[in-house]
Amino acid sequence: MSKVIPLSLETPATQEAARVMGICNSCRYCEGFCAVFPAMERRLNFTAESIHFLANLCHNCGACYHACQYAPPHAFALELPKAMARVRKESYAHFATPNWLGRLYQQQGLALSLGSLVGFVVIFVLAYLLAGGETARLWQAASTKELFYEITPHNTLVAIFGPVFLWAVLAMTLSGKSYWQMLKGLAPEQAFLSKEASQTVSDIVQLRYLDGGGQGCAAESDKPTKQRRVSHQMVFLGFMLCLASTSVATLYHYLLNDPAPYPMTSLPKLLGISGGLLMVVGCAWLLAQRPTRHQALQDPTQQTMDVGFVSLLLVIAATGLASMWLRTTAAMPLLHLIHLSSVLSFFLLMPYCKFVHGLYRGLALWWHNREQANPSRLQLSEG
Ligand code: SF4
Ligand code: SF4
Repeated sequence: MSKVIPLSLETPATQEAARVMGICNSCRYCEGFCAVFPAMERRLNFTAESIHFLANLCHNCGACYHACQYAPPHAFALELPKAMARVRKESYAHFATPNWLGRLYQQQGLALSLGSLVGFVVIFVLAYLLAGGETARLWQAASTKELFYEITPHNTLVAIFGPVFLWAVLAMTLSGKSYWQMLKGLAPEQAFLSKEASQTVSDIVQLRYLDGGGQGCAAESDKPTKQRRVSHQMVFLGFMLCLASTSVATLYHYLLNDPAPYPMTSLPKLLGISGGLLMVVGCAWLLAQRPTRHQALQDPTQQTMDVGFVSLLLVIAATGLASMWLRTTAAMPLLHLIHLSSVLSFFLLMPYCKFVHGLYRGLALWWHNREQANPSRLQLSEG
């Protein structure tokens, strides 16, 4: 597996975050806001590796920026959320497999998302056109009888999507392994406690640290709201429901020999429709919040990465719902192809797009919970 990892994680972004952490470690005013601060307090200096750990604990809630007496125009010019966002972006590229693809996505995220989506639509349409008159007949039949698999046979779907999905899973497993190796280098002797795994799952599912210590995200101004947390949860829950819908449909197909299409009251349809609706509303809401987010909270160079990812999820959910809603009209085949193309683009870009923030954040939270369950290595009270 080709993986070109630079010799050092040290960059201007990690150096700036280390400077900020050094000041925060003296101040500690924000220590109740999130996991970053208790993790910071277990350190006296900040290596690039420890910064890549702390940065992925940050949920960019903005609370520490609005609370900070050292934020601009103070001479210290502390912008902790932005400093952490810059380092997270480097994590996504540095630990990607291969990492040159991670870098490419960072520079051209929106173009790659749109380009792969349009490219797959063109390839699918060309394939149908090249197949000749038989396809045109099937297309017509499919649009009037809800026969999705007449347009793209099930085995063809498995042959196309299977390898791309397996590649994405393999690439993310290797990326996660590299990041975990780096975490283990922070404290090789750290003991494992089983309850940390359930604590970590609970932290992830609740988005525990996206609430600025309980008040919500101070995203637009210093007035916190729950909007970002709720919209993020809608996307997360919607995604999980859609995943469950596909998994149940696969079991029906292979174990019960019951192929799609399924009735509207079937479990795959109910899961898929509720998940799709949640994703459409959640993604649209997240995108609508972006222009009003305070500039000090964002890394401007990460905007295309974020927008490209959320937009692709929105297209997947919207075309999935629309192709089902319009399943007996002439619009269905094209909507269905756009839906398939967007899912294929998502699988292809999954290891490089913003989707990986869940992977690194989950591992960082797990490491954090392990750290907190162990005695501090500083042992300052014994000094
Ligand atoms: S962000 Fe500012 S107020 Fe908060 S701990 Fe750091 S220096 Fe102190
Ligand atoms: S932005 Fe929020 S999550 Fe990130 S360090 Fe500040 S308080 Fe913690």
